[in-house]
Amino acid sequence: MNIKKNDHVKILSGKDRGKTGKVLQVMPRANRASVEGLNLLIKHLRPQREGEPGQRIEFPAFINASNLILVCPKCGKTTRIGHKTVKVEGKAPKKFRVCRKCGEIID
Ligand SMILES: [Zn+2]
Repeated sequence: MNIKKNDHVKILSGKDRGKTGKVLQVMPRANRASVEGLNLLIKHLRPQREGEPGQRIEFPAFINASNLILVCPKCGKTTRIGHKTVKVEGKAPKKFRVCRKCGEIID
């Protein structure tokens, strides 16, 4: 899974197709993520006590990561993610994600 928490992503399917937002949560095992303010579902809650009104709670539903594309923080374009291993003298090599459009390291 290439999408991480706090990434800026664009949604490619569903009712919020084309919109962008920040990733709130990821479920790497299910390959899914939820995005702030997008793909909202409404949960209807029954009143807890007599005489109280019920409630509607909006929350972002999880979307399959294949329907999300990363917006590069460096160049602002939507991009697929590449990987780059950087070797530092005397340390274990570290893997980074890179933007395929501008080649910048994302993190
Ligand atoms: Zn870029």
